[in-house]
Order: sequence, then C-alpha cells, then structure tokens
Amino acid sequence: MIVMKFGGTSVKDAESIRRVTEIVRERLPLDPAVVVSAHSGVTDLLIKAAQGALKGEVAPRTIILTHQKIIKDLGLPQDLVAAELSGLNELLRGIALVGELSPRSLDLAMSFGERMSSKVLAAHFNNAGIPAAQYNSYEIGFETDSNFQGAIIQKESLKTIGRFMKSVPEGKMPVVTGFLGHDKSGNITTIGRSGSDLTATYLGAAVGATEVQIWKDVFGIMTADPTVVPEAKSIASMSFEEAAELAYYGAQVLHPATITPAIEANIPVRVLNTFEPNHPGTVIVGTSSPSPEIVKSIVYKEDLNLVTIASTRMLMQPGFMYSIFRIFKKWGISVDMVATSEVTVSLTVDSTKHLEEAVAELGEIAEVTVEKDKTLVAVVGYGIREARGLAAKVFASVAETGVNVQMISQGARMINLSFLVDNTDIVPVVRALHKAFFGDQGKARKPVSGRQAAKSR
Ligand code: ASP
Ligand code: MG
Repeated sequence: MIVMKFGGTSVKDAESIRRVTEIVRERLPLDPAVVVSAHSGVTDLLIKAAQGALKGEVAPRTIILTHQKIIKDLGLPQDLVAAELSGLNELLRGIALVGELSPRSLDLAMSFGERMSSKVLAAHFNNAGIPAAQYNSYEIGFETDSNFQGAIIQKESLKTIGRFMKSVPEGKMPVVTGFLGHDKSGNITTIGRSGSDLTATYLGAAVGATEVQIWKDVFGIMTADPTVVPEAKSIASMSFEEAAELAYYGAQVLHPATITPAIEANIPVRVLNTFEPNHPGTVIVGTSSPSPEIVKSIVYKEDLNLVTIASTRMLMQPGFMYSIFRIFKKWGISVDMVATSEVTVSLTVDSTKHLEEAVAELGEIAEVTVEKDKTLVAVVGYGIREARGLAAKVFASVAETGVNVQMISQGARMINLSFLVDNTDIVPVVRALHKAFFGDQGKARKPVSGRQAAKSR
C-alpha cells in the first residue's frame, strides 16, 4: 500500500480534482490510500465564519458557494455535502446564540473542510470508475489529546488505525480526511495548520505503507531558492536530518515534524508535484549517508541581528559566558549562531523583541554593538565536515563575489557550513555557491524577476 496525500491547492477546483483522479488511477497497482486537505482556502473561511458567528453573523456564503460550484462542475449530486453544511450552520447559530467560541467549537467548525472535501473526492473517484470509500479520520482511530487547535495524536492510534484499515473492503480505495482526530471524550480535534501531512505519515506508519507521497504544487525540495537561482534543480533524494536542517533555514516545503512517523517506521516520504506528476520530486529517507555530491542545497535565513560583545577582562573568567546567556534567556531571546575569540563573543538573534533591553543589560558588563540586516547562508549536506577542501571551495567562490564574510560556523553535526553576510549580498553569494557546487552550465532561463518581488508575494 502507498499513502497519497493531496493538499488544498491540489484539490482547489473541479479541474484539479480531475487531474488528481488520473494521478491516482495511474498508481492503482500500488494500492493507494488517499488523504486529503480541505479545498484551498476553506479552512481560513471556516475560521472567519466561526469568528463572524461570535459577532452574530451566521452566513457562511463563500463556503457554501465554493462547494456547490465544485460539486456542480464535477456533476455530483447537489446534496452531497448538505448534511455537513447544515451541521456547520447549526454550529454557527449555536456560537452566535451563546456568544462564545471555545477552542473546542472552533476545531469542530474547522473540521467541516476536510469532511466535505473527502466526500467530494471519494464521490468523484467512484464516478470516474475508481471504487472508493470516504472515512473521517476521527472515526477510524486517530485519537488525540484535548489540546484543541494543535492536538497531539496518541501513539496507540497506530494500532487502532492499522486494525481498521484491514477491515476496508477489498477493491475499495480509502479516502481519509487529513487534519482531524478525536479526543478521549469524543470531541473532534484538529492537529495544527497544515496537519494533513502528519495524518498521511501516521496512516502510512499504521498500515506499513511502502511509501508516503505528499502531492503539492512545487518540484519537491530544491538545490536553492529558485527566485534567487533560476538554475536551481529539484533534489532527488535526501535524509530526514538534511530535510530538517533545510527547514530550519526556511525551506518551506515540508515541516520535518510532520514526517517523523514515517521516518520512525522507516517509510520513505516523497514530495511530488500535482501539476507535473511525472517529475520524480524529492524522496526523504531515514538514514544519512554521504553522497558523492555531498552538498545538497544552499539555503539562507535573512534579517538576523549580529550582536558583538567585547570585554578585555572577560576571557578566562569563569562564568562570563553564563552571565551573557542568562541575560538573553531572561529576555526570551533565542540565539542562533555563536563564535568566540580572545576578547569577543559574537552571536546572531533573529528577533528584535526585547533586544534593546538585553543590550542595555549586557552593556553593564561589556561593550556591545548590534548590526542589523544580516543573513546566514548555509551549505547543507551530510558529510560536509569530513569533506576535504570543501570550506576552501565555499570561501573561494564567495571571495570572487567580493562580499565580506563576517562570521563562520560549522555545525557540531556534520551537516552544514554556515556564515554571515549582509542581506544585500544574498543574490551574488547564493548564486556563486550554487554555480560552484551544481555547475549551472545551462544558461539561466531568464534574469531573475526580483527576489524582493517574490518575497512580498
Ligand atoms: N486544511 C488544513 C489547513 O489549511 C490542514 C491542511 O491543509 O493540511 O491548515
Ligand atoms: Mg490547507
């Protein structure tokens, strides 16, 4: 069995759902189970509707229209999700009447998105000749705690779900709601925004799937931000650890926590593109092994602050580092990167919240300067620490751009080499590194449309 998860944009309208249907049809020999998100935008609309109800407005018009249109365009029965829509309406009335929106009611409201999209998908599969059965995840064993909005799936769920899935009639493809569970008292819960990926990997672990496929609207994980490096390619394969490192630097394709169940069960997770289904995407596997190319991706994290703390009497002073970090802790500031020299400690922090207070306090024990608008650039890949000449190659290519490197760090694990530059140096530095490690012989498709423009989207 494989698990195929389709996100909101992959099922945003009738056309997309038809596309998904053909993708699934081609993979029927692999015995798929499907996990689906709400149609694009619906979860947000449900939150708005619940908040509106609190102010007395009970009119989930856009939600009704969105579903009616998809259902009509697919030629499905008009009343396919009538029960869910009236359930939602009833709930909104209740919220309006009581004038109270508890986290529990909000989760219940949000649950309607996946409950409806999964019904639509299953009905269309059946119409298109793929026998399918719809299941609400909270009815097949996804048990969570009662931490509404971010409920944690309980370990025992694996067994219950596995048992349930064995009882699915032969020849029927299960279509399961992402994102939802139930707590011990039977309340419906949601497991955190974008939670359907987690539903998919849990389901995969429960049934011992051979692969979990996460279908999105991008080409898997890339060798660099394609808005900076037009030649960036999709990465064929990487380890969980590498994926986690990339996510830390803001590569937003997958949150590593969402694939933990699959990794623990040693099931590969593949990120694929619904709009380009024959592209192999990126496969994430549990174990790291050095690959010949070593460097997997060039990433960056911008808008950091560089704090330099200098004191002639500090070094060799027991407890000096403690006194510095105690102050950061007190003000709730998290520190990213640290470097020390004879008389200075340099570190980066990504938020300016309470930074002024912390700096004032640090000023009582040392001389402090803060430089803003810095970017941490990282070369990520398993085995980097062992690779001879790699640092030389990195800094030679940065040197050619004429950019000044301000701080260097090699993670304690063998997975990244990172350094600090000015925000304004991102484009030349990332491009130079990408060229050095990935060749970029093929000419750029076209000049970059502008990183800032891409950023503000
Ligand atoms: N529909 C939910 C959300 O928008 C869950 C998901 O898409 O995975 O967050
Ligand atoms: Mg969504």
